[in-house]
Amino acid sequence: MRRREPEDRREQLLRAALAALSETGIEAFTFAEVARRADVSPALIVHYFGDRDTLIEATFRQLVERVTTRPIQALADGTSPEDRLRAFVLAHLNPGELTSEASRAWLSFWGLALHVPALARLQRVHQERMVSNLKHELRGLVQADQVTRIAETIAALIDGFWLRAALASAWRPDVQIPVDWIFEAIDRDLSAARLADSDRPSTQAEEQFQTVNPATGEVLATIRIDGQAEIDKAVARAAAAQRDWARTPGVERGRILNRAAQLLVANNDRLARLETEDTGKPIQETIAVDVLSGADCIEYFAGLARTISGEHMDLGSSAFGYTKREPLGVVAGIGAWNYPLQIACWKSAPALACGNAMLFKPAELTPLTAIELERIYLEAGLPEGLFQVVQGKAETGQMLSRHPGIAKISLTGEVGTGKKVMADAAATLKVVTLELGGKSALIVFEDADIDEAVSGALLANFYSAGEVCTNGTRVFVHRSIREAFLARLKARTEAMIIGDPLDPATHVGALISTAHMENVLGYIELGLQQGARLLTGGKRLTEGDLAKGAFVMPTIFTGCTDEMAIVREEIFGPVMSVLDFDDEAEVVARANASHLGLAAGIFTRDLARAHRVIGMLEAGTCWINSYNVTPIELPFGGNKQSGLGRENGKAAIEYFTQLKSVYVAMEPIDAPY
Ligand code: NAD
Repeated sequence: MRRREPEDRREQLLRAALAALSETGIEAFTFAEVARRADVSPALIVHYFGDRDTLIEATFRQLVERVTTRPIQALADGTSPEDRLRAFVLAHLNPGELTSEASRAWLSFWGLALHVPALARLQRVHQERMVSNLKHELRGLVQADQVTRIAETIAALIDGFWLRAALASAWRPDVQIPVDWIFEAIDRDLSAARLADSDRPSTQAEEQFQTVNPATGEVLATIRIDGQAEIDKAVARAAAAQRDWARTPGVERGRILNRAAQLLVANNDRLARLETEDTGKPIQETIAVDVLSGADCIEYFAGLARTISGEHMDLGSSAFGYTKREPLGVVAGIGAWNYPLQIACWKSAPALACGNAMLFKPAELTPLTAIELERIYLEAGLPEGLFQVVQGKAETGQMLSRHPGIAKISLTGEVGTGKKVMADAAATLKVVTLELGGKSALIVFEDADIDEAVSGALLANFYSAGEVCTNGTRVFVHRSIREAFLARLKARTEAMIIGDPLDPATHVGALISTAHMENVLGYIELGLQQGARLLTGGKRLTEGDLAKGAFVMPTIFTGCTDEMAIVREEIFGPVMSVLDFDDEAEVVARANASHLGLAAGIFTRDLARAHRVIGMLEAGTCWINSYNVTPIELPFGGNKQSGLGRENGKAAIEYFTQLKSVYVAMEPIDAPY
C-alpha cells in the first residue's frame, strides 16, 4: 500500500465534506461529521482547513471545479462554434455529474452564497465563466446584439435544471424532457438570430473534419464538409441521372445491383478492416457481419427489382383500373456510426432497386466505408450521380432534410434527431423513414434453456460493445432461475476478450469516441449511485495500449429497479441491467412501460406462451429464443418513439415508391352536357 500523501488526504477530506453537505445539509455540517465519514480525527481536519468556513469554501471550490471541468474539456474537443456550444451545454447536463450528491450540494451552495461573501464571489465567478464561454461561441453564430441575451438564457436554463434535479433529489426518468427542451430553445434562438453565411467570421467556418480510430486515437482521414452549394449540385446531378434510371427495366437495375453485391463480398476483408479502424468494432464482427449483411441486402433487392408491380382492378365492362409503383425521385439517407457500411447498404439497395437516386450522408464519426460503397456501385456499372456520398455533420444532414429537390429522408439515428429531421422535412412534406433508438426488453422465463438465454443476453448487450440500437438492455429474469442465470452470465462475461479490434481473437473493441465513453461511464456511475449492484465490469480499461482508446469493460448491474436511469435511458454502450420478475402479466406490463419500442426478445420452451407474449409486447422487431439476428427478408423497424416505417423485406418497397392509380375507359364517355 502506498502512503497517503497530503494532496490525497486533502481530496479525501473534501470528498467526505461534499458527501456530508449533500446528505445532512449545512445545519449538521460539523468537523465531527466529516471526520466520521473520512474515518480520521477531527484534529486532522483542523490541521488541513483551520475552521469550518474555510472547509466549506474549499468544498464548494472543488465542486465548482468539478462541475466546470467537463464542459471546458468539451469546448476544447469541438471543431465548430455550434458543435462546441452543444457539447458545452450537454457536458453541463451530463447524467454522471448531475448526480443527487453533486446537485444537492450545489443547492446548499446557492443558498449559502446569499449570505457568505466568499461563496457569493465564487458563485459569481462561476456564473461569469459560464456566460463568457457561451458568449465566445455565440459570437461566431448569431447577430452581435443577440449574443448576451442568448448566453444568459442558456445559462439560466442550465442553472434551473441543476436546481430542479437537486430538489427532485435524484436523476429522474423524465430528465430527457428538459434536456430536449433546452436544446429546442437553443435551436429556436440560433435559427432566429443566425448570422448570414457571409457575416460569419471566416476563421470559424468549418470546412473539414477528421475521423479518428477510437481504439488508438490515430487520425485516419480529413474529410471535406459539403455545404449548400455542393448539396445543390449533387441533387441536380442525381435528378438528371434518376430520370433515365426510372425508365431502366427492373431486371437491368437488378443486374447492376447484383454486381455491386459481388464486389462487396470480394472486398470483404479490406472493407471489414477499414470499418474496424473507423468504428473500433472487433474485426471478428466486421468480417462476418457488416460488409456481408450489406451485400446480402443489395442482393435481396436486386432480386426484388424485377418484381415491383402494381395491381389490376376490374371495374366492369366499361373500364378497368391499375396501379403502378413509381420511384419517389431523389431520396436521401442519413446514417448513424454504429453500422456505417451496413446502414448505407440497407438504405441505398431498396432506394436504387425502386428506381430512385440516393444522396447518402454517413455519420461524421464514420465517413469512410460509404465512400468505398460509392466506388463499388460505379464499378458495378451504376450510372454516375445515382448514388452520391455527401459528407458533414448535423448541418449537412439538415440541408438534406430541408432540400426541396429531395423527396424522402431515411434516417438512422437518435430519437431527438428523428424529431428534428421530421420537423425539417415537414416544410416540403417529404416522406420520412426513421430508425431510432431503443431500450428493449429481453425476457427469460423460468422454463428457458439457461445457457441459450445467457448467449442471447450476451449478444443482446455486448455485441459491438453494446452500440446496437436493438439491444435488449433490460434483461428480465424469472426470480426462480435468477441465481443460476447470473452465475453463468458472470462467468461468460468475464471470459470475454477485450482489446485490439484488429486482433481476430478480440470480442469487445473500443467505443466510438472518448466523448461517448465518458457518457457511458457517467451512466455506470449513476447506476451505482442509484443503488444498482455491479455484478461485473464497471470500468474503463487503460492497461498498456488500451489507454489510447475508448475501452469499457462489459458491465452487468443487478438489483435494478424500473425507475433507475440505467434502466430507462438508452446508454448505447456495454451496460446490461438485470431485473427480477415473478409472473407473465407483470413482466409484459413492465417491458411495455417505455416510450420506446424498437425490439424485444423472449426465451422460453413453451411455444404457446412465446407467441402469446410476443403478441402483447409493444415492439417492432422481436425474437423468440434468439436475439439481434436481422435477416434481410424480415422487415426491420420500431414502434412508438423508436421509429417510423420499415427497412428490409418487401415492406421496404412501399417506403421507396409511390402509387399511381390509372383509370382506363373502355366505353365512350356519357357526358350530361
Ligand atoms: P445521431 O442522431 O446523433 O446522428 C445520426 C445521423 O444524423 C448522423 O449522420 C448525424 O450527422 C445526423 N444528424 C444529426 N443531427 C441532425 C439534424 N438535425 N438533421 C439532420 N441530420 C442530423 O445518432 P448517432 O449518435 O450517430 O447514432 C446513435 C443512435 O442511432 C442511437 O440512438 C441508436 O439507437 C440509433 N440507431 C438506430 C438504429 C435503428 O435501426 N433503429 C440503428 C443504429 C443506430
